[in-house]
Amino acid sequence: MFWKNYHAHTYRCKHAKGDAVHFARAARAGGASVYGMSDHAALPDNRWNNVRMAHQELNDYVAAVHYARTEVPEITVLLGMECEDIPEFRSYYKEELLGRRHFDYLIGAGHYTPLEGEWLNSFSELTNARALRAYSDHLAEMMVTGLYAFIAHPDVYGACLDRWNAEAAACARDILAAAAETNTPLEINGNGLHRHPIHTSEGTRVPYPWKPFWELAAEYPVTVICNSDAHRPEDALRGLSELHAIAEENGLTLADLSYLEPPNQAVA
Ligand SMILES: [Zn+2]
Ligand SMILES: [Zn+2]
Repeated sequence: MFWKNYHAHTYRCKHAKGDAVHFARAARAGGASVYGMSDHAALPDNRWNNVRMAHQELNDYVAAVHYARTEVPEITVLLGMECEDIPEFRSYYKEELLGRRHFDYLIGAGHYTPLEGEWLNSFSELTNARALRAYSDHLAEMMVTGLYAFIAHPDVYGACLDRWNAEAAACARDILAAAAETNTPLEINGNGLHRHPIHTSEGTRVPYPWKPFWELAAEYPVTVICNSDAHRPEDALRGLSELHAIAEENGLTLADLSYLEPPNQAVA
């Protein structure tokens, strides 16, 4: 089979290395047919700039993905961005990125969770029922916009909690119901496989993918997508077989994102 991967970063986000062409070459060598670049989106006000490209780098990023396309024509290279859903930037996503600049797709991601005028870090601060509710509400709201081809690592709050409990399950159910309702694919994300493991009295686990989340997903008519979320070219396709195994074990349906591929780019 040919791998398809829609989530990868470049050096511009300041916590990854390599550029689009390096990922595309690694993806071709690893047997991919489709490779989507999706660096952390440049934001017009340069907010949270320590983990994303500056707005001034946008032209350069688009050019780098186009260059990868011409350098690695054997595979389909897609132009994407991983976006925080911020209401005042939705028109920028829609009109500037998807519109004027012809991005192939956007990923919706909740690295930050809005709660009463503050932004919580979703990797460390979703530790109680109120924060978890804010997170599921945030994801549900971004799904309703229809701007995002899928939602990145919805189970990222596995990094915040010692164990699966009633609040974690309620949060998962709210996210899964919203995904089913809006027909938005959810991502089983491979980056958590390489993060610091969580040590609990029940043993050690990766922060995400969080298995109980995906077991619960089987109860909902949702689709899933497996992505490496690579931050280094050598990780371009890392973890994909493990992620696909999680989908398979739970009988989850894979989303078909082939509609994102421009027809003139289809692999012969
Ligand atoms: Zn990142
Ligand atoms: Zn990412």
